[in-house]
Amino acid sequence: MLQKLRNCFEPSDALFAVAITPYDLYSNGLNFVFGIAYPFKGCIVSYARLYSDNEELFLSRVRKEVTHEMGHVFGLSHCPNPKCVMHFSNSLYDTDYKGEKFCSNCKKKLYLSMKELGLI
Ligand SMILES: [Zn+2]
Ligand SMILES: [Zn+2]
Repeated sequence: MLQKLRNCFEPSDALFAVAITPYDLYSNGLNFVFGIAYPFKGCIVSYARLYSDNEELFLSRVRKEVTHEMGHVFGLSHCPNPKCVMHFSNSLYDTDYKGEKFCSNCKKKLYLSMKELGLI
């Protein structure tokens, strides 16, 4: 299944691919993950565990997870700053606690990565 998805991430007319799915995702022995990223290819984010009755909160969670996985796509790793969007979250508590933005360190790394890719 993952291999199949991975094969989808060979975009010829796009730089990266982002997939968003209602299905639960599993990876590397973890019982679930919010998303999986393939560095410099694309990512897949599941909203199966992000639901909330509060639509704004739900959309904010989706934005955070997509931004987080896209950070990995650009080669960023997890950030120790719990407010940074690149902080690892394995619970909704972590996701709700962190912000939607990159901290200044991750912003710098993102900038360098985009520069290396010739995007800026
Ligand atoms: Zn991550
Ligand atoms: Zn950070």
